[in-house]
Order: sequence, then structure tokens, then C-alpha cells
Amino acid sequence: MPRYHIWTIGCQMNKADSEHIAAYLEGVGYRPAPRPAGADIVLLNSCVVRQSAEDKVVHKLESLRSREGILALTGCMVDSDIAGLRERFPHVDLFFPPQDISVLARFLEERGLVAGGVDPGSVAARAATSTFVNIIQGCDNFCSYCIVPYRRGRERSRPMDEVVDEVKDLAQRGTKEVVLLGQNVDSYGHDLDGDASLAELLQRLNPIEGLNRIRFLTSHPKDMSDELIEAMARLDKVCEHVSLPVQAGDDGVLEAMGRGYTAGQYVRLVERIRRAVPRVALSTDVIVGFPGESEKQFEKTYELLRELRFDTVHVACYSPRAGTVTSRKLADDVPDAEKVRRRKAVEDLQEGISTEINAKLLGKRVGVLVEGRKKGRWWGRTRTDKLVFFDDSADRAGQLVDVEVTHTSPWSLRGELLG
Ligand code: SAM
Ligand code: SF4
Repeated sequence: MPRYHIWTIGCQMNKADSEHIAAYLEGVGYRPAPRPAGADIVLLNSCVVRQSAEDKVVHKLESLRSREGILALTGCMVDSDIAGLRERFPHVDLFFPPQDISVLARFLEERGLVAGGVDPGSVAARAATSTFVNIIQGCDNFCSYCIVPYRRGRERSRPMDEVVDEVKDLAQRGTKEVVLLGQNVDSYGHDLDGDASLAELLQRLNPIEGLNRIRFLTSHPKDMSDELIEAMARLDKVCEHVSLPVQAGDDGVLEAMGRGYTAGQYVRLVERIRRAVPRVALSTDVIVGFPGESEKQFEKTYELLRELRFDTVHVACYSPRAGTVTSRKLADDVPDAEKVRRRKAVEDLQEGISTEINAKLLGKRVGVLVEGRKKGRWWGRTRTDKLVFFDDSADRAGQLVDVEVTHTSPWSLRGELLG
């Protein structure tokens, strides 16, 4: 039986695409290989959001230069200049855009490596306990620093009936939680007929039998409607967790980023969400060292994070991306050492805040959806997206269990299973 190996880097959308590719390959008779060495086909699913991610992809590609077998590259590194990619990486047999597995299917069929006739679009996703479901591709926001809209194209929402049918099917096959994905998931439906919206989609997914939890990410602050907040508050299966990237706390930086909101508007949005969903956990993304960001402007970001007290903060140093507005118009003038200092300041601040937030859970009973085993322990997440570990000799995979929290850290919780 032929074997495949997929290496993935980047966001949840990439992970979802890799799952889809794996489901197709398994549907045509391939089996997974844990390492490239044992695989007939190796696929790299790439990310180019920051230079550091792109460097890792190039390093991985180089390490596979002398390997036998087929090598394919997909993900955000695959742009329209396939000829340029071929010149840079002549040992790669196939480049294909992640949203178009049919290119991979044709390639394998033409070489007699799979029996033809399987439509990759009709291959059902694998039903994990928690399964990613892409609901909107692409991004129309064109934040001035971001490469994603150039690589993933304009926003395209999947028809609502199609998403609902997929989630029903997943729930019948054992999925307990779906994570609805989009670069800008809040704008779901604006390109569909009628008044389709994420709030309406949540409303239709909530009654699905067998499904316990619904999450969605990533939200854009300028597109989060009151209707969506209200749906989150009202629908019992929609989890109390929002991923709401702020990127910066200074209005001048936000404007140069093209984010479409001010720091004050963002703070008021968080207040509205917290009023409507009191137990909500919030995560955010921040970029430090954006072109021209002064110490004073950085301090505004720092203050905003201290004031709002997020559960999780993902912080990155600004990385110029060729082709974006910022890289064309603004000099990357914050020195690397200063960017790293600012990133460390945010990380230290957040470690303290996450420590305090999680410590409040000590001795509390939390509901955990068990996703699997890691290092000899069961692990899962709370509705608020906290990672929880516990010991038990019985098979708990896929179960909703109650755990009493006995240890907390900024990154995870540990506890004892309650009977
Ligand atoms: N769509 C989401 C949003 O609105 O933020 C997230 C998508 S983006 C791929 C993930 C994160 O990467 C962003 O939130 C941002 O913090 C970071 N990012 C994007 N471009 C970057 C750049 N040029 N340099 C540093 N970080 C960047
Ligand atoms: Fe990039 Fe902005 Fe789109 Fe997020 S919303 S993917 S940061 S352009």
C-alpha cells in the first residue's frame, strides 16, 4: 500500500487543508507515514506570513533535496509564479494551491499512482473529536503588512446548506466539536445570496444532534456584529471563546496597518462581548516593531494588553513581506533587537496575566472534551479553550468529562477526573 507524509506549518487553515489532503489520499488507498523516509509522496504545506516561517519551509525543502519519491509543495508559498518556484526548487515535482486538491489528484492519476475517478471535492473530511471546517476562503481586508490576501485570494463563502450538511455528517461519524475557520470568519456570508451571516450559520448548527460544541476563528474586530455577539450569548453549544486580533494599541499604528478600527472602538467591543458573555475567554494577536512604531506607541499596546487582560496573546515581530503595501511604502526601521525587546516585554506581561487568570481555576470543576493522549496523559479543552491534562486508565477519547483542577500554569491546567 503506498504511503504519504504531510508536513504542515502555519495557521489552523493550513492544518484544515492538510486534513483534507490526507482524507483524499486515504480515500484513494494511501496510508500515513510518520516520517518522510518511509513515504512514496511527501507534501509540504507552507506558510509565508513571516520570514521565519518561510525560512523553515525552505530549510525543509532543502533537507528533502536528495530524497527518492514524489515531493509536492502547497500552502501560501505557492503563488501564481509557478515557473519561478520551479526554478528555485527544481527537485519539487508538483506545486499546487491548497484550495485546489484536484491539481494533486490529476497529477497522481496521470502517473498511474492512483485509480482515477475520485472527485477530491466529494471526499468527506475525517471526523476527529474536534474537527476544523473551513467556511470562508481568502481575505478582502488587505491589512497593509499581510501577504495572506495575495496568496489566498478574495473572500469566498461556502454555501450555508453545504456547511450544515457537512457538520451533520461529521456529527454522525463521531465529531463532538467543530471549529469554523476563516481568515476573517465574521464576514462569512456577505458574498452569498440573501442575508447569510455567521450568526445565522451558528443558529442552524446549534441543534445538530451529537454535536456538543461550536467554535469559530479568526474574528476581525471591524466585522464582529452585535447579532453575532447575541448569538454567542444565546446558543448553548457556541463556546465562550473569541479569537480577536487587535494587532496594536495605538491609533496611528492601527491606521497605518489599515485595520479599520481605533483602540477605543476595540476596547468598547471587548466590553460588549464581556457584558453579553460573562465567562468568555479572549485571545488576541499583536505585532510589535511595525514601521515607525515609537516607544510611546508601543507602550499604548502594552497598556491596552494590561487593561484588557486577555487569556492568550500571540505576539510577533513585524516581518516585511514582499508585495505588501507596508513593505513597498514604509521602511522597516525598528531595529531587530528593539523588536525582540518589545516582544519579550509583551510575553512577560502576558505570562503574569495568564498565570493569574488560570490560578483562579484551582479547585474548580471544569468540563473537558477529551481529544487524545500526550505523554501518557489524557488531554482536552474546556469550552474557554484551556488545555487540560489528567490521568485515567479507561479510554476517555471523545468523551465529555468533568475534571477538578489541581495544578495551573500560564499555558495549561492539570486535574483529577471526577466520577
Ligand atoms: N486574519 C487574522 C487577523 O485578522 O489577524 C489572522 C491571520 S494572520 C495569517 C495571523 C497573524 O499573523 C496576524 O494576526 C498577525 O499578527 C500576524 N502577521 C501577519 N502578517 C505579519 C507580518 N508581516 N509580520 C508579523 N506578523 C504578521
Ligand atoms: Fe491578513 Fe488582515 Fe486578512 Fe488577517 S484580516 S488575513 S491580518 S489581511
